[in-house]
Amino acid sequence: MFERFPTPLPIGSGLMLQPTGLAVLAAMGLAEPIVRQGQRIDHLHGVAGARTVLDVHYQALGAPRQFGVGIHRSSLFSTLFEAVSSAGISLHTGHTVVGSRQLGDQRVLQFAEAGESEPFGLVVDALGARSTLAPPVGRELSYGALWASLIWSPEAGLDPHTLSQRYHRSNVMAGILPTGVGDGTEQQAAFFWSLRADAHTAWREAGLAPWKARVARHWPACSPYLDQISDAKQLTFARYAHRTVARPFASALIHLGDAWHSASPQLGQGANMALLDAWALAKAVAETSDLASAPQIAVKMRKLHVAAYQALTWLFTPIYQSDSRVLPLLRDWLMGPLSKLWPLTALQASLVSGLVAEPLRPLGLKLDLALGEFPRPR
Ligand SMILES: Cc1cc2nc3c(=O)[nH]c(=O)nc-3n(C[C@H](O)[C@H](O)[C@H](O)COP(=O)(O)OP(=O)(O)OC[C@H]3O[C@@H](n4cnc5c(N)ncnc54)[C@H](O)[C@@H]3O)c2cc1C
Repeated sequence: MFERFPTPLPIGSGLMLQPTGLAVLAAMGLAEPIVRQGQRIDHLHGVAGARTVLDVHYQALGAPRQFGVGIHRSSLFSTLFEAVSSAGISLHTGHTVVGSRQLGDQRVLQFAEAGESEPFGLVVDALGARSTLAPPVGRELSYGALWASLIWSPEAGLDPHTLSQRYHRSNVMAGILPTGVGDGTEQQAAFFWSLRADAHTAWREAGLAPWKARVARHWPACSPYLDQISDAKQLTFARYAHRTVARPFASALIHLGDAWHSASPQLGQGANMALLDAWALAKAVAETSDLASAPQIAVKMRKLHVAAYQALTWLFTPIYQSDSRVLPLLRDWLMGPLSKLWPLTALQASLVSGLVAEPLRPLGLKLDLALGEFPRPR
């Protein structure tokens, strides 16, 4: 494994693990530490003005005991990193991959720090959305978001098992995701605020006070969280790119996770899809004696789900993050009320859980795997 940073470390704030990602982690024997360090999420709740426009309960899946997990990236990272270390995988840090070249039926990696790797029978590109091994495709989205990791604040009166969001039109979105205790004892939360990328410099120059006043005006209850922010450096601005590599493999090379497909985190699927991709490749490698054909087999298992969620995220993102005046009206007056009706409640739960297009079946994974092996968490 080659990594550009001198020390492997997680970047960013919290994320949502869905029943799909949990099914992969459970099959790897890693769900228990994840669930212990994260926070069980039962409900996604979004309010625009006085109207509830997002009201999704995992319970509506019909499968018993399903939930998401809000988790700090460092907890997910350390669990996966421990598994990598105990599997004896050698890690070469301080290696920035700038490209690769084919050598017979093998592939060699090229590094910015000079030099090349030994040849490999298969290179797995997991370099993320700005992969230097994948062809340039897609585009950066105009909206990103500010993210902060904060201490969970009961005074805000939010439910500790709910991802709570507030919207005004599509150009204002704030959210609070409970992210559990990590490896400490204090409950944490991820706070996010939608921001246009071209407004980021002006936001920084204006100082925190006007921004805090604006957030509090839209969402008075989140004041205890705003009180924890005293320095703009506590907030990281994340930009999103919507891109899909049409043919995610070449000779002795496969692109997985964000290197294959990335999108805005509106549906909270990216890390879960990366886990599914990795599981698919492991299964393909285990089931074929021919390493050269494993990438094609893995991609075949994943391509329907990837295409479905790339399209769905492309459709849903502007409803929550754009300058449109029409889309938020549709969301507030049509989609919100309709989504309360059966069978749309179940469909919406399936959508946020990552289960549309049945990703688990070709991978030999089951939903109840995610939960059968350990007690229901807090
Ligand atoms: C703000 C935000 C919120 C999100 N929320 C969610 C969520 O709630 N749920 C969800 O499922 N997903 C979420 N996502 C998406 C999720 O983070 C990604 O889909 C996921 O991290 C992709 O994993 P990956 O391993 O493919 O890539 P990454 O996590 O990007 O990892 C890439 C790795 O490659 C290394 N690297 C990159 N370039 C090089 C190079 N040239 N040479 C060597 N090393 C390199 C990096 O340092 C990193 O270690 C969110 C994303 C963002 C930005």
